[in-house]
Amino acid sequence: MKVFQCGHCNYPLFFENNTCENCGHLSGYRDLDRQMVTFDPAGSSLISDREKIEYKYCKNKAHGVCNWIIAKNYPHDYCRSCQLNRTIPDLSVKENFPNWHHLEVAKHRLIYQLQKIGLDLPSKMTNEEGLCFDFVTKNNDPNLMTGHANGVITILLKEADSVLREQARKDLQEPYRTLIGHLRHEVGHYFWERLISENQDALQTFRNIFGNEEANYADALQTYYKQGAPDDWRDSYISKYATSHPWEEWAETWAHYLHIMDMVETAHFFGLEVNSKAISENMKIASTFDPYTIKDFRSIVQTCIPLSYAVNSINRSMGISDVYPFVITAAVVKKMSFIHELLLPYR
Ligand SMILES: [Zn+2]
Ligand SMILES: [Zn+2]
Ligand SMILES: [Zn+2]
Repeated sequence: MKVFQCGHCNYPLFFENNTCENCGHLSGYRDLDRQMVTFDPAGSSLISDREKIEYKYCKNKAHGVCNWIIAKNYPHDYCRSCQLNRTIPDLSVKENFPNWHHLEVAKHRLIYQLQKIGLDLPSKMTNEEGLCFDFVTKNNDPNLMTGHANGVITILLKEADSVLREQARKDLQEPYRTLIGHLRHEVGHYFWERLISENQDALQTFRNIFGNEEANYADALQTYYKQGAPDDWRDSYISKYATSHPWEEWAETWAHYLHIMDMVETAHFFGLEVNSKAISENMKIASTFDPYTIKDFRSIVQTCIPLSYAVNSINRSMGISDVYPFVITAAVVKKMSFIHELLLPYR
């Protein structure tokens, strides 16, 4: 994620800010060129500080879950991220607000990243091949589960409750469970349909790398939940769950690919370096490049490994879990490189 600056006082702004903490000007994110735009709060309309252009906030700003801005004459009330919401939580239930807010923070970051890659994000409501989000509780339908089907990403609202999510993480013995992780995984299934299933060359390469997805999915999942992952799963897979079926391995690897790109992009925008005498030569880095502009995925991984080592160490200083508790083996790098190369033409 980029680091942004106030258009009035140059103070740094986070992606989620709707005001500048230094000067009090309003701020909003403009997705068309990935800029944060700021406005004089005393003005009667939303005229940008730098370019003096009038905007409007996405309608979801009123609920405190979106800070994106759109052109004044844009034909929608909602931004391009919120237009993808098909079902939002019941807003007459007060407790749903904080959970919906957490989900929208993760979803907006996901959309930022998919837009940066250059992927098309049509809405399922207007295009059969499009994408949409259902943020639901078991009250909507007791059979609903977090998952993806035919462009519809369903996330159970309870996943946004940190206590319940931590319980699920422990029960499933996962090293990491987050909302952004869920969203990156589920959208991976959607893009498998868009980028792989309809492209014979990509499908062939996919099968060579991940295996044949025609293996019975329900049987494969049942076997996985009964027997677990093979002992040597770390050699070739990014997670235990990735061993369950080629589709799940794709979605897991895709999610980790997006994790790595985001970490390295953020490090780049902060100009982070790991360059101490106490660190061996191969663990030194200077995040001098935006990973989305780089062709060779290996150089991105070579930055990410020392970076996550350094950030994990900082987290340990504070007694919290590692930011990236995974090992990226050469076999996994090969799989992620396939995804990176598949996405290069979209930039
Ligand atoms: Zn400011
Ligand atoms: Zn919005
Ligand atoms: Zn999945």
